This record gives sequence, structure tokens and C-alpha cells, in this order.
Amino acid sequence: MAAHRTDPPEPPGFDPRSALAHLTRGQRAERLVHVRTLPAREGRVVPWPDWVAPEVTAALLGEGIDTLWEHQARVAELAHEGRHVLVATGTASGKSLGFLLPVLTALCDGTGSGTGRGATALYLAPTKALGADQAERLHTLAVPGVRVATLDGDTPTEERRWIRDHAHYVLTNPDLLHHTLLPGHERWRTFLRALRYVVVDECHVYRGVFGAHVSAVLRRLLRVAARYGARPTVVLASATVAEPEVLGRALLGQEVVAVTQDASPRRETVVALWQPPEQDDGRRRGTVAESASLLADLVETGVQTVAFARSRQGVEVVASRTRDELDARGAGVPGQVAAYRGGYLPEERRALEGALRGRQLLGLAATSALELGIDIAGLDAVVMSGWPGTRASFWQQAGRAGRRGAPSLAVLVAADDPLDTYLLTHPELIFETPVEACVLDPENPYVLGPHLAAAAAELPLTRDDVEWFGPTVPALTEQLVAGGVLRRRPTGWFWVRPERPSDHLQLRDAGQAVQIVDARSGRVLGTVDEDRALTTVHAGAVYVHQGQRHVVTDLDLEAAVALVVAGDPGWSTRARSESTFTVRSREGEEVWGAARLHTGRVEVTTRVTSFQRILPTGEVIGTHALELPERSLLTQAVWWTLPEDELALAGLGEDAVPGALHAAEHASIGMLPLLATCDRWDLGGVSTALHPDTGLPTVMVYDGHPGGAGFARRGFREAASWLTATLDLVQACSCQAGCPACVQSPKCGSGNEPLDRAGAVAVLAHLLSERPVDVARVI
Ligand SMILES: [Zn+2]
Ligand SMILES: [Zn+2]
Repeated sequence: MAAHRTDPPEPPGFDPRSALAHLTRGQRAERLVHVRTLPAREGRVVPWPDWVAPEVTAALLGEGIDTLWEHQARVAELAHEGRHVLVATGTASGKSLGFLLPVLTALCDGTGSGTGRGATALYLAPTKALGADQAERLHTLAVPGVRVATLDGDTPTEERRWIRDHAHYVLTNPDLLHHTLLPGHERWRTFLRALRYVVVDECHVYRGVFGAHVSAVLRRLLRVAARYGARPTVVLASATVAEPEVLGRALLGQEVVAVTQDASPRRETVVALWQPPEQDDGRRRGTVAESASLLADLVETGVQTVAFARSRQGVEVVASRTRDELDARGAGVPGQVAAYRGGYLPEERRALEGALRGRQLLGLAATSALELGIDIAGLDAVVMSGWPGTRASFWQQAGRAGRRGAPSLAVLVAADDPLDTYLLTHPELIFETPVEACVLDPENPYVLGPHLAAAAAELPLTRDDVEWFGPTVPALTEQLVAGGVLRRRPTGWFWVRPERPSDHLQLRDAGQAVQIVDARSGRVLGTVDEDRALTTVHAGAVYVHQGQRHVVTDLDLEAAVALVVAGDPGWSTRARSESTFTVRSREGEEVWGAARLHTGRVEVTTRVTSFQRILPTGEVIGTHALELPERSLLTQAVWWTLPEDELALAGLGEDAVPGALHAAEHASIGMLPLLATCDRWDLGGVSTALHPDTGLPTVMVYDGHPGGAGFARRGFREAASWLTATLDLVQACSCQAGCPACVQSPKCGSGNEPLDRAGAVAVLAHLLSERPVDVARVI
């Protein structure tokens, strides 16, 4: 909770410099491209506020917490005064103490009222794990008279009733608000009437489309609470983000004060940028293999390390390769290295967390799921297998080490892809550039429209609801009336159908989770979302779980089950797909000579058509057709066109056009995360030598989320910077015909065919030469 609670004694001193010296021994020094030391910082302590309830002070004292950092006190004071506040400070800066003081004090004071429930509070977490973590802390604190309860999808009906009628502090999530509490608000009226505080933890997670959904849910909550006479104060806690007031305002639709000065102490962190070596074939060693070697080195010397990989499969491979390396060196100890990722079952997760705390487990490979509040204390080092996508995630992952204030080491192992390569040669973009703003669009009509229908079912909408949902309410509600969703009456807009509008509206676009089941034992190995299921667990796919290979024997999308059989066939598999797009609307245009840049809405249609079997050498030994349903995605995109005669002027003959455009598409997808809070997996692209809608050679990049998330729009707004950086990268690459560091893409549906690197340079240079001179070239 706070950095200065009493912890068990630390293992003997960890020295990041000697650990780094061990990693760079012998020939390996040249792999270390850049080192930066972030100095230690003293903490700033302030007096305990005199308004805190004595029971709360006593409970915290029992935990060894008797002092406050300045930022904690500032958050507590602002919330106590009834101001909405957003605290955006580093990992382990004790954000929760800031909100617990006013919240628990209000709840304590409320227990003295006639009903015993003069005040209530809600705590919202984006994940179950984080909610459970918070619940455990509150149960340990055990403030007398304050009843804390967790309400999630698994809470039985009987218990829900008790929570509704008796709990003071309810820990839940936005999904449950949306599906249960808000539609049933009349049953929750005594709770809502007394609602004093709403805590929104890890609110930086609410970005893009998911952020727009959660924003609408929070506004629905404040609106319904107001109906019962409650005006709760909202406390938002976030990782470090740029423009936190903007994020808070986008989420709530109201003014929010930001607290950003982190006053907690920090010990030194050594950050290293690492480039894997070139191999005999001229390619760089993969980031996953290199990260596994570094993890093995660190584990072998007793350094407790977490290695972050970008994908679930990457996590599995890092863990199994690290084990293999340690075994080969005769240093393997069973259970000292493990994999941890989102798809695991709760029991598996808890066992791993326990082993890590007890230091039986020294090396953990994980996806970024670990970022979300799972309390891992006392790690010495972090290895990042590839750029984590944003500076905010980078600092968050780096901050995972040294939680007890000990010095720590963070190593970024560059992947062989455009953005990583670019950052390695531009470290100032990591260290001297502020973190990204968290982008979300609360007025996305595709998101807000359905939420207005849900809000109308809760309480009829009126013109006054502009206060909660913004100026687009009248126009959107009229659209809902025209579509037969709402009915207009003299007193407002009404929902008149028998079903609940929230039933069919999901906050997370992950789609239905497909269970991966061992066909022999019936055991559930994990889950994967439906879209990903089509490319990773189709019949015939090779699926890796805890380092063990399985072959998928059947994918039943209706039952949402993939059956697998354990066994290593000796090859891996890669799905191939085809995509096309149609332009639905044009929302912005820029003229660059003969070229046109657009942003607007598109519909992208994708079908997984086949898969390839690939030997470990990379040789493809067969292609097999698949019969899978077509998927279509309505989203935002940025696209540009260049007439064929201009391409000819750039030196591209007809045959060279498809490969040149395809290569330019891949590289520009790789570079967009430089400007927007996304990673390349949030984006997709399509390029074509003749598009039916534009009638021209066209390259399009789109947001990979229904309705769009603002990423492509940002690409349009900063097209000059974006495409200039893309050209610089492709031009500067040391490869011959194109490599993963420039124009190849790991997620290409057509197996990176055709690709023409020189063609991409020609087309991008020509495109940029057409741009008017007054467009600034900045990054
Ligand atoms: Zn290259
Ligand atoms: Zn491609």
C-alpha cells in the first residue's frame, strides 16, 4: 500500500551494474547500445491530516503505516474537499493510501448514522485480479464497522442481496455496473443514495474504444446517483500519463484536478537498451531467444527477474527456452522459471504468485497482464522482450523492478521490427520525450449511441442530459428514435422495448472467449478471444501451453471450444488471411500535389483462408485450406492514394506497384505507435494497386477495434511526421531486400508476399515530395 510498510528483510544487496557487467561479458559488450542511470530520489513526508477517522489511523498504524508522502496527502485533501481528483504517479508510489483516507473516513463516520449506512463507496478495477488484491488489503486492514464486499460476475444472488442492503464499500468493475447495478438501480437505491465516493483504479487502461465505453458507464452512474440525490466525489488513479486532466475529463465529463508530483522515494534504476547479435544468415537473433538467454544469465546468478513478452506465445517460448538454457548449463532447478499470462486459470496464477514471493521462483516470463495490479514485491530486474508499445508501458514495466526501493535493472531487448530499430538509434525518444497522452473519444457515436439507449432504459433521457453525456445527445437520440430504438414523448426519450439494451452491449470488444480443452482429460488449458481463435486454434494449428506443444483437432465456434491433443508434430503453423475494405465515409482530406490523404470510416472484411506448416528452419512444408467465417470490422482509418502515372514518375513499373505499396503499408503500421498510444497489434492495413472506391493505388491503415479508437485519425493529423519517420527507417535499414526491422510484418496475412523495400522508399519519397512546403517536419 505504501512503500514504507514493514516488509520482510531484503535478500543481500542487488547491484545492477555488476549484473549488467555479467550480461555484457566477453564478445557481448557490443550488444549494449545505450545505458541510462535514473538517479535515486528522496521521499517527501507531510503530517497526517487531522480529519482522518481515529479507527482508520489505528488500522493503518497496525500495518506499520504512520506517515504520508506529499502526493498521497494532496489526493486525500482534494477528495475530502469533494473535488474530483486524478492521481498519476509511478508504479508503487502508494496511490491507494491517498484515496483510502477520505473514503474509509467517510464510511466510518457514516456507520454512526441512524441506518448504520450514512455513506457508501464504490471501487472499480479493470481486472478481477486487481479487485481481489484491493479486497485482500481492506480485509487485512479491517477498519471496525466498515463492511467491504466484492461484487463480480461470480457473486451468488443471495450474497448480492446482502451487499446491496448492507455493504459500505463495494469492490467491482465497470462491466458489472453496466450489466447489473445500473439496469437494476432501483434495488440499489439505498446504496446509491448514500454514495459518497467512486474510486476508479488503473484508469489509464480505459483508452481507445474500451475507454469510450467506460466513460459512458461512469457518466451513467453519476447520472443515476444524482437521481437519488447523491453527488459522489470521484478519485481516479492512473499510471503516469501526459495530460491527466484531459483523461479525467474525458472519462467523467467533468472537471478533474490532477496530482502528478510523485513524492515517494525511489532508488536508482539502470536502464539498458540491448540489440541482439547478427547471425550467419545476416538476420538479427530473435528478441525472444535473446531475452531467454538474458533471463537465464540473471536467474543463474540469483537475480529475481521478470521478462515481459509481447504475446502469449512469446511468453511460453521465453520460459521454455530459459529452462532449456539453464539445463544445458547444468544450472536448472525445477520450478525456478515459469510462464504467466492472461489465459491461465486462477489457481495456476495464485501458485505462481506465491512461489515468486517465496523466491523459489526466480525467473518469470509474463505478458503485460502483470502490469495490472498483481502485487509482485522484491524483483531485482526486468527484461523487456521488444518495445512494449508505448513510453507509458515502458516505464510501467521498468518500474516493476525494485518495488521495495532497492536499486534495479531494466533491459529493453529490441525486436527486429521498424519501431524498435528506430528507437534504438533515437534513445532521446524514450528518455527525453514525455509519456503519451491516453487517447479516448467519449463522443464516438458508435459507442455513445448504444449507451444512451441504456441510459434511457435506466431513466428517460431529457435535454438536460447534455450535462452528463455532452453536446451530441440531442442529435444521437433523434437517430435512435429514427432507428426505432427510442420513442420520443413530451417528457423525454424513452426505451419502450421489453428487453434490456445493456444485454447486447459489451464493454470489451474481445468477443466470446474460446476455451482450449485437452481432448483426452477434458481439462481446460486456457482461453483465447474469438478473433484470435481463428488464427491460433483453428483445426490443425500447433498451440503452445506452458512450453508444451499441442495440436488442435477441432475448433467449434458455436460451442466456443477448441479441442487439443498434447504432442509435438515437429512444425509450427501460421494462418493466412485475405482482407479488403470499402470506404463508408470521408471525414478529412489533405491534398499533397497529386496525392490525397484521407481519414474516415471504413469496413474491413477479413477471412482466414489457409494455414502453413513451417519447420524450425523456416521452410514451409505445406499449405492447407480452411473454411472459416468471414469477419467484418467497421472502424476508422487513414489512407492515401497516388495516381499510377505518379508512381511511374517515381520509377515504379506496373509489376513493382503491389510490392512497393505493401512494404510501405507494413512499415507505416510499424511506425504509427510512435505517435499514438497503441501498438502495431492494435492496427491493421490493406494495400492495393487499384482500389474500387478510390479508383487508384491505395494504402490504408486502420484501427483494429470496432468503431475505431482515434489512432488512425492521429496518423492523419500527423501524417507528415509519421510518413517521414517511416521513410527514414526504411531507407536507413542495412538489409538488402527487406527484413523484419523495416518492411516485413509478423502479422501479415499473406506471409509477407510480395514486398519491395526499394519500391517502398521510392513511393514514400515521392509521396512526401508532393507535400506542400509549409507542413512542418517534426517528431
Ligand atoms: Zn530491413
Ligand atoms: Zn502484409
